[in-house]
Amino acid sequence: MKYALIAGGSRGIGAATAVEFARRGWGVAVNYHRSQREAHSLVEQLRGMGVPALAVQADVSDRGAVMDMVEYVLGQFPQLDILVCNAGVADVDLVTHMDETRWRRLFGVNVDGMHYCVQGVLPYMIGRKQGCIVTMSSMWGQVGGSCEVAYSATKGAVIGYTKALAKEVGPSGIRVNCVAPGVIDTEMNGALTGEDLAALAEETPLGRIGQPEEVARTIAFLASEASSFLTGQVLAPNGGLVI
Ligand code: NAP
Repeated sequence: MKYALIAGGSRGIGAATAVEFARRGWGVAVNYHRSQREAHSLVEQLRGMGVPALAVQADVSDRGAVMDMVEYVLGQFPQLDILVCNAGVADVDLVTHMDETRWRRLFGVNVDGMHYCVQGVLPYMIGRKQGCIVTMSSMWGQVGGSCEVAYSATKGAVIGYTKALAKEVGPSGIRVNCVAPGVIDTEMNGALTGEDLAALAEETPLGRIGQPEEVARTIAFLASEASSFLTGQVLAPNGGLVI
C-alpha cells in the first residue's frame, strides 16, 4: 500500500485526487486550510472506501505549520510515499492593480507553500531513497495569462522548481513531476460566467472544459509505478487548449 499527503486536498482537484488514490487502495492525508467540514467528510468517504485516511489542518504558506503537519502525518502513517503540492489560489486583475498583499499571498501559497511541503518531506524521502512528488502548475505557467500575471508567474516558478528539484533528488530515488491543467470545473473558476466557460470550451480542441477527476488521474499516473521512468516532466491535461 502507498501513503500520500495531498496539500490542498479538501476541495476541487485535490479532493478528486484523494478519491482516485483511495480507489487505487492508497492511504491519504488530506490537508486543508479553511474547509474543515469538507475535509472531514472527504476523510469519512475515503475510510468508507477501505483505506486509511486523515485530515490535517495547515496553511501551507506558514512554514512552521507545514513542518508540524508533516511530523503529524509521519507519526500517523507507517510510511509516506507521495506528496502532492496541490494547494493553490488564483487572483484575476490587471498587473497595475495587484497590490503587495495580493502579490505576496499568491507567491506565499502557490510557491512558498509548495517549497515548505517539499522541504518538510524531503529528509524523510531521501532517508528512504524513494518517494514521489507531484507539483501543480497551470497552462498559464506555460504560456502566461492576461490579467493573471502574478498567478502565471507563480505557476511558471512551479515548473522551474520542479525541473531543478528533479535533477537534485533523482540520485536519491525521488521522482518529481508537474501537472499543468487547462480550464477545470472547480470553485477556482467560480467567478467565470456561463458565457465565459462556453467561450473557453469552444477554444479547446476537445470542445469542453475539464473535470477534476481527469486531472486526478494524471496526478495518480505520475504518482504510480506506471510513470517509473518519468521525472522533471510537465503533463498538461488541458483538452489541447495549449499545445
Ligand atoms: P479550489 O477548488 O479553489 O481548491 C483549492 C484547494 O487549495 C482547496 O483545497 C484549499 O483548501 C487549498 N488551499 C488554498 N489555500 C491554501 C493554504 N494557504 N493552505 C492549504 N491549502 C490551501 O481549486 P482547484 O481548481 O481544485 O485548484 C487546485 C490546484 O490546481 C491549484 O494549485 C490551482 O492553481 C491549480 N489549477 C487549477 C485550474 C482550474 O482550472 N481549476 C487550472 C490549472 C491549475 P481550503 O478550502 O481548505 O482552504
